[in-house]
Amino acid sequence: MTDHIVVLGAGYAGLGAAKRAARRLRSTGARVTLVNAADRFVERVRLHQLAAGQRLPGLPLAGLLGGTGVELVVAEVTGLDLQERTVQLDGPPYTLSYDVLVYALGSAADRDTVPGVREHACPIATEGDAVRLRARLAEPGPVTVVGGGLTGIEAAAELAETRQGLRVELVCAGPVGPGLSVRGHRHVHRALGRLGVVVREHAPVAKVGPDGVLLETGDEVPARTVVWAAGFRVSPLAAASGLRTDEEGRMVVDRSLRSVSHPEVFGIGDAAAPRTPGGRSRMSCQTGLPMGLYAGDAVADLVTGREPRRARFRYVWQNVSLGRRDGLTQFTRADDSPLDVVLTGRASAAFKETITRGTVWAMRHPGPWL
Ligand SMILES: Cc1cc2nc3c(=O)[nH]c(=O)nc-3n(C[C@H](O)[C@H](O)[C@H](O)COP(=O)(O)OP(=O)(O)OC[C@H]3O[C@@H](n4cnc5c(N)ncnc54)[C@H](O)[C@@H]3O)c2cc1C
Repeated sequence: MTDHIVVLGAGYAGLGAAKRAARRLRSTGARVTLVNAADRFVERVRLHQLAAGQRLPGLPLAGLLGGTGVELVVAEVTGLDLQERTVQLDGPPYTLSYDVLVYALGSAADRDTVPGVREHACPIATEGDAVRLRARLAEPGPVTVVGGGLTGIEAAAELAETRQGLRVELVCAGPVGPGLSVRGHRHVHRALGRLGVVVREHAPVAKVGPDGVLLETGDEVPARTVVWAAGFRVSPLAAASGLRTDEEGRMVVDRSLRSVSHPEVFGIGDAAAPRTPGGRSRMSCQTGLPMGLYAGDAVADLVTGREPRRARFRYVWQNVSLGRRDGLTQFTRADDSPLDVVLTGRASAAFKETITRGTVWAMRHPGPWL
């Protein structure tokens, strides 16, 4: 029998896993099928640029998969049957059977924890979100970005820099950039101040309405557009299918990235919660990319009758863009806690751009890394 490996999700994690598994299994006759809702690769790390009105290069998956032997199916995954080992799709071929499944469906915005987000806010977690936000920004009026994590910081800075004259306020429940060192924190404040972004820290949002946000203190922050960058959630598919998940719905996996309840299923990227030196992994490309490659190798190990290898992982930095000409690279310990070492300004911006471009280049060009 020919093994069929099905990878769900062609983001940073899934695309890498599919290509790596296909390369490792080339001589075995195993088939690798990659399923994705869209026919192109979305650089989520650039979605704030897209929302701000910048053009992003088109990255058709067919081009990124050329010569790899990976078969692409463009369809939405609607269900999993772990007993039958099948995946249900909303388009042809409607059902796919697998021997080994890699689950890499990423994440989306959390629209339900705070009232009014679903009706009135504009998230920035998917390409569709970013396109809708860009259209909304055509209407004049102040913008409030909610969320002091890296996505909120990047969005506020990008909007303020690209759309000069736009009033941008950044509202966060705790400090801005809670995982940054004192120096990192100081640089982010300086950069946002230079761009005219008003920062309101320790101001949890109770509700979003048509004219802005209501804080838990009772204060109102008026806004024409509310950008929601205050949390991600994963697809309910994993939990609904019976895969063991944590309280956030992320797949619980072992050291080889296999589901602890269904070892023929691997979980990677935002959709899974592998153990990292600091505990639970941070949703990021930094986690998803290497985990995808490990999963590709581990799948190949399994199919060729070896013990699937264990994923080894450590954090090195957090990279935050602050518009196109400034940035912060916060170097970290293995557990993602900040060191007192940062790179700032144009050097950091250039560093991040090189990594972002390099990632796509590596995805496009076959080589030992994929
Ligand atoms: C604005 C923004 C800026 C960011 N900046 C950074 C950064 O600077 N550094 C960093 O490390 N991280 C950053 N991140 C986080 C990073 O983008 C994610 O952690 C990363 O994309 C996760 O990779 P993934 O492969 O798990 O998921 P994704 O990249 O989201 O890929 C998942 C894929 O699955 C597909 N999919 C989902 N559901 C289905 C379905 N039901 N059927 C079929 N296909 C489906 C999606 O279309 C997508 O192609 C940023 C995120 C955002 C939104």
